[in-house]
Amino acid sequence: MNIINIINKKRTNQVLSQEEINYVIENYVNGEIKDYQMSSLLMAIVLNGMNLDEAYYLTCAMINSGETIDLSEIEGDIVDKHSTGGVGDKTTLIVAPIVASLDCIIAKMSGRGLGHTGGTVDKLESIEGFNTALTNEEFFSQVKNTGISVVGQTGNLTPADKKLYALRDVTATVDSIPLIASSIMSKKLAAGSHTIVLDVKCGSGAFMKTPEDAKLLAEEMVKIGKNNGRNMSAIITDMNSPLGKNIGNSLEVTEAIEILKGSGSEDLKFVAKTLATEIVALSRNISTKEASVLVDNALSSGKAYEKFKEWIVAQGGKSEWIENPNLFPKAQYKEDILAENDCYICSMNAEEIGVSSVIFGAGREKKDDTIDFSAGIVLNKKSGDKVSTGDIIATLYTSNKDSLKSAKEKFLSAIEYSYKKPEEIPLIYEIVR
Ligand code: URA
Repeated sequence: MNIINIINKKRTNQVLSQEEINYVIENYVNGEIKDYQMSSLLMAIVLNGMNLDEAYYLTCAMINSGETIDLSEIEGDIVDKHSTGGVGDKTTLIVAPIVASLDCIIAKMSGRGLGHTGGTVDKLESIEGFNTALTNEEFFSQVKNTGISVVGQTGNLTPADKKLYALRDVTATVDSIPLIASSIMSKKLAAGSHTIVLDVKCGSGAFMKTPEDAKLLAEEMVKIGKNNGRNMSAIITDMNSPLGKNIGNSLEVTEAIEILKGSGSEDLKFVAKTLATEIVALSRNISTKEASVLVDNALSSGKAYEKFKEWIVAQGGKSEWIENPNLFPKAQYKEDILAENDCYICSMNAEEIGVSSVIFGAGREKKDDTIDFSAGIVLNKKSGDKVSTGDIIATLYTSNKDSLKSAKEKFLSAIEYSYKKPEEIPLIYEIVR
């Protein structure tokens, strides 16, 4: 087999065999196939696509490139959720304790934020003492004792994806449904859960800009998961605007606590409850209606909140901070953004708002940037809301005074106004099973 023939085959829109895909992945990881050759193949895939079999073989080859997590010593149905990435998306912090309080087991690996999207590991680390780097023994023991643990990625999981993703990032080859599907699914499948519910984001702040593309990605990932014997479902949710009202690490944790205590933004609550319901229904093999009653009860009885506290404390986090979120350190500077007219907020571009929060320290531009956990944005108004002159639309928080001016400019450029009430955008487009 020869990489030049394989590149040519994909360049001329032919289907690659499993042997060819295995050959490419094995030899790219061991260095025989060079970055310039892989870049060329990736661009041919972006332009000509892959069929489902090819995407499935690529996923399996990436899983086989490294270790996989064996969760068989844990009893019960191990469930996972994954978001394709959004702004203000703190649903894991809400969904994980809800479903764990209903006896679904969460033994989860999460990522850090990069670019305009946040990451669960950073959010959790904003809680003083919380340890996302448990040893394997600590991780397994916590899952067995409490039914819930979330850690950063450990071990040598899917090294082919790590190497490929870094290359895709700098060769304009991220944007491809089979490449995204195989990249995400290889990591999820290697992490060992039985039931996986995907939150496929759609809109200005997401990889997939339209519901049609989001559906194609969702269908592909669900099929790949089912081919690997997992219970799968994908919910296509809106990411034209940030989810909820808080963006930034400790601000997002405090908003998740509000929801678990029974208050908080309706959009966030709705998406989190839909995800939790889907997980419980799939995992227990019950109807969505039955699962939704269980989820509502878990929230209203306080069981989900108690499970959240148990989880945070088990991983070293301070329970006082959860009981009294005012203890989270505050940013030194804040600035209100005021409405200049009587009008409606027509749209709040999620990506631009995510970028503005990165400018004042709430996220990372590059992998090794440090984060200011207290920096972020609180949205007082959302898309579709009516505002009067002088109303506070949002408050920006940072400890880096110099960044405020450009972050504010970016934030302002993300907002569009209109004198007519804008059409409502659905929060959930579709569930793909
Ligand atoms: N997230 C991933 O893990 N991989 C992609 O290709 C895109 C988003």
